Amino acid sequence: MLLPILKYGAEPLRRPTHAVDFFNSELEKIARNMVETMYSAPGIGLAANQVGIELQLATIDLTVGEDSKQLIVLCNPEVVRSEGEQKSDEGCLSIPDFTETIVRPSKMTVMGQDVHGNEIEFEAEGLLARCVSHEIDHLNGVLFIDHLSPLKRNLIRNKIKKLARTGEW
Ligand code: ZN
Repeated sequence: MLLPILKYGAEPLRRPTHAVDFFNSELEKIARNMVETMYSAPGIGLAANQVGIELQLATIDLTVGEDSKQLIVLCNPEVVRSEGEQKSDEGCLSIPDFTETIVRPSKMTVMGQDVHGNEIEFEAEGLLARCVSHEIDHLNGVLFIDHLSPLKRNLIRNKIKKLARTGEW
């Protein structure tokens, strides 16, 4: 089932999410719907609060479904190590049509749980590190434009306000 993706301005995007403490068929269903929504968007990552579900749950797949082995369903993520810096253009399904250059760690070690509650730990580099960092930000109520200078952020905010006034947001 496709879930509507919330856009900038929606409250759940700004609230830190709650730890996942149930690993059952309900969680599997939420994750399945998120993956379907992410692929359909299309996007390489989706955080649960982007679809109004305030749980520490994110789905990530750099191949957008081309290679199912690349899919990561990540619950309760924690960055245990982070190093270096990378600078690249970044966008967000909740802030469509805006891209900005954002600095992210170049390499991270992430711990968390899979959809069954099993502990997982993996190393992320390059685009994967960027994506994981972006999604963990979401789960803490942080958006990529928060990494910009106040001037740039206000510019985007004002453009969005204008779009909202004309019903285009
Ligand atoms: Zn995003």
